[in-house]
Amino acid sequence: MDNRSENTVSDLFVIGGGINGCGIARDAAGRGLSVTLAEMNDLASATSSASTKLFHGGLRYLEYFEFRLVREALIERETLLRAMPHISWPMRFVLPYHKDMRFEADTPTSKLLAVVMPWTKGRRPAWLIRLGLFLYDHLGGRKILPATSTLDLRDAPEGAPLQDRFVKAYEYSDCWVEDSRLVILNARDAEARGARIMTRTQVTSAVCEGDLWRIETRDTETGDTTTHFARMLINAAGPWVGDIIQTKVRLNSSEGVRLVRGSHIVTRKLYDHDKCYFFQGTDGRIIFAIPYERDFTLLGTTDAEHADPSLTPECKPEERDYLLNFANEYFKQQLSDDDIVWTYSGVRPLYDDGASSATAATRDYTLKVDTESGAPMLNVFGGKITTYRRLAESALDKVGNHLTVEKGRWTAGVPLPGGDFPVDGVEDLSAALRRDYPFLGADWALRLVRAYGTEAREMLGDAARAEDLGVEFGATLTEAEVRWLMTREYARCADDVIWRRNKLGLRLDTPQVRALDEWMGERAGQMAAAE
Ligand SMILES: Cc1cc2nc3c(=O)[nH]c(=O)nc-3n(C[C@H](O)[C@H](O)[C@H](O)COP(=O)(O)OP(=O)(O)OC[C@H]3O[C@@H](n4cnc5c(N)ncnc54)[C@H](O)[C@@H]3O)c2cc1C
Repeated sequence: MDNRSENTVSDLFVIGGGINGCGIARDAAGRGLSVTLAEMNDLASATSSASTKLFHGGLRYLEYFEFRLVREALIERETLLRAMPHISWPMRFVLPYHKDMRFEADTPTSKLLAVVMPWTKGRRPAWLIRLGLFLYDHLGGRKILPATSTLDLRDAPEGAPLQDRFVKAYEYSDCWVEDSRLVILNARDAEARGARIMTRTQVTSAVCEGDLWRIETRDTETGDTTTHFARMLINAAGPWVGDIIQTKVRLNSSEGVRLVRGSHIVTRKLYDHDKCYFFQGTDGRIIFAIPYERDFTLLGTTDAEHADPSLTPECKPEERDYLLNFANEYFKQQLSDDDIVWTYSGVRPLYDDGASSATAATRDYTLKVDTESGAPMLNVFGGKITTYRRLAESALDKVGNHLTVEKGRWTAGVPLPGGDFPVDGVEDLSAALRRDYPFLGADWALRLVRAYGTEAREMLGDAARAEDLGVEFGATLTEAEVRWLMTREYARCADDVIWRRNKLGLRLDTPQVRALDEWMGERAGQMAAAE
């Protein structure tokens, strides 16, 4: 079937429902622009659900002298934390020090030290780490997050899981964020402000007709095709940014993207406190060990070249081994393949700045406007979850050079759905939820507050008993919650729910997941028939 999208012309047509596409759609819709967004799979189905999930300045980027990126990200951490205290929270990072820690050979800092202090022979001296943390504390106008401190690992509980050779550590602050929920909440807020969000909708071509873009999309479930028109095209296709330029729009552009795969492994909980570890390797790389979903530990990440966005990224055996060996250099408990309960992998769509190694390629974003076709197109390269809101603001500055944008920057300080409560208010909100819904266990209430914030109540409605929430799919997932996710949060199948709206995939078994999928399939059929 071929449809014409109501023959309306949007101001912006955004390709890609990752964090950058949804962030730009929200910002633009809030400024009164008409926006249509197409995502070929589920929202956050690519890189934006596969990150390390940190709002961070990127301590290691200081060694690359990426001061602008680090400063912008540090300032941004607290702005974001305030806007979404349900899905983001402060974390302390313990950085054990050992004299054998080395730089990656081609960082500007290691090159400088090789000249002025050749006797360090590529090692990262303790004073340099302390200097980096001093900058980290002071570059970004920190107000909420506590400053760096020093730990004696021989006494501190943080030393207990580590090998005895680690006696000293630094502890600094960054923030956690539920990456895929961040995307979904941005999409919901964009829609609430007038944007049209289409999932399972692939852009198959975009050509200019006069001063408008004519965009063809295909519904990936029904095969139906639709034609849309827009004044400006936003290419936020992440790893596919080059594919859009070359095969969907057929632009003659030399801009390139460098695809760098990063994998994570998840094990059962490896230690009892709530802090993260920042481990430095003898190869100059770093990995994190992070408390994850209450009962697990997240370890990552790797940096490996990835040839083609159409190859689904997977954690390769050598990446598993790399992460296990890295952790085994630090923890007393020696990990093996049997300890891994889940892995995930994503592809960083980095701007190709010609750096020699994947680790060294810039994590900064680059926005390029192309007007060669007649109407403007904005291509988004690189970026981090942490800088998505700033990236959207910069994108709207560029949009303003081509379309009339009457309203200025507005997103700083405006909460995402469910985030309208104080930064330290999660415990109060959970306690109040348990008072009003006494059947909720502590872990269940906390899970709902962390996912839905002040909207948890709306999701639970007037339920007086657990049975009032309908079918129980396992691990506290109920029909009421799944209905909410299907009607409010674009979920279509079990995977959307258990890996991108929450992480209950870690707890549900295969028959439970199948039952959820079947229930959702039937429910989707009923919803379609009722429309
Ligand atoms: C391993 C790893 C760890 C990371 N850790 C962090 C971290 O801790 N903190 C941080 O700040 N950043 C981190 N990042 C970076 C961050 O995850 C990415 O910069 C960000 O998610 C990129 O978002 P995006 O929207 O550009 O791309 P994506 O999330 O990949 O979104 C692009 C979307 O476009 C869609 N699309 C493509 N082609 C089409 C088409 N033809 N039609 C319709 N839709 C299409 C895709 O399906 C996809 O969903 C990490 C990245 C990786 C890989």
